Amino acid sequence: MRLFDLRGKVALVTGGNGGIGLGMAQGLAEAGAAVTVVGRDKAKNAAAVRALESLGAKAAAIETDITAEETCRKAVATTVERHGRLDILVNNAGTNIRKQPEAYALAEWHTVLATNLTSAFVFAQAAYPTMRQAGGGKIINIGSMMSIFGAAFAAPYAASKGGIVQLTKALATAWAKDNIQVNAVLPGWIDTELTRTARRQIEGLHERVLARTPAGRWGLPEDHAGIAVFLASRASDFITGTAIPVDGGYAIQG
Ligand code: NDP
Repeated sequence: MRLFDLRGKVALVTGGNGGIGLGMAQGLAEAGAAVTVVGRDKAKNAAAVRALESLGAKAAAIETDITAEETCRKAVATTVERHGRLDILVNNAGTNIRKQPEAYALAEWHTVLATNLTSAFVFAQAAYPTMRQAGGGKIINIGSMMSIFGAAFAAPYAASKGGIVQLTKALATAWAKDNIQVNAVLPGWIDTELTRTARRQIEGLHERVLARTPAGRWGLPEDHAGIAVFLASRASDFITGTAIPVDGGYAIQG
């Protein structure tokens, strides 16, 4: 459908080499966008490029660690040099270190904040001039249920994901005049590498998630393809600053 057509558009997806990021990247690729994924792991990057190309998309990977400002700016610059434009930015890369608040070293706090929140700000800032010059753009930031709820084992993660929602509102307000829409997606509990570790570390998590999720299952990376296409396409041109749960109803269950 033309409303969701992304042919001719260029997308950059941080953490797009696996999990939710790849699920979104595949949605964007199927809708016609050229997609570049950013990640540290060479083998995962190569596999993601193959998966995206198999959908008929132009695909590339940038192997880098996004916890440093320069690497974020360089990833945007490389994409713009390669394609001459950048229409869609998905700030998805994320990490978690799970322990009680009193047990964190400050370096661990900084790692989680740099990966989950600061990188999103730097990528957005770096993408802004190109999007403004092109007459518009779409920025999709990935939050979490921890953007809404607290958890004893997730102080830096929850702070970063709450921050993502407020960053989204601030950028949306500032850049609406440039026709840049900025929205957040809040995944529920999704079966990925990140939560496979969580299931090992938190006793009873698997059963608690199933019991609380009205849809009665864990989410899958591909559950995020539709929201990515929607928020990246002109179908969402009058939607900005929102935070949309993709959670099988987890957040509305009392
Ligand atoms: P994964 O662990 O499967 O994916 C994380 C991605 O981020 C990988 O592609 C990884 O690539 C990349 N990444 C992590 N750190 C860095 C870094 N320093 N530099 C570059 N890339 C990095 O996790 P998910 O798919 O589950 O998570 C994706 C996003 O969704 C995260 O923001 C997460 O917080 C969020 N989320 C996940 C939920 C879930 O239930 N799974 C729930 C709510 C939110 P590489 O390994 O190559 O570095």
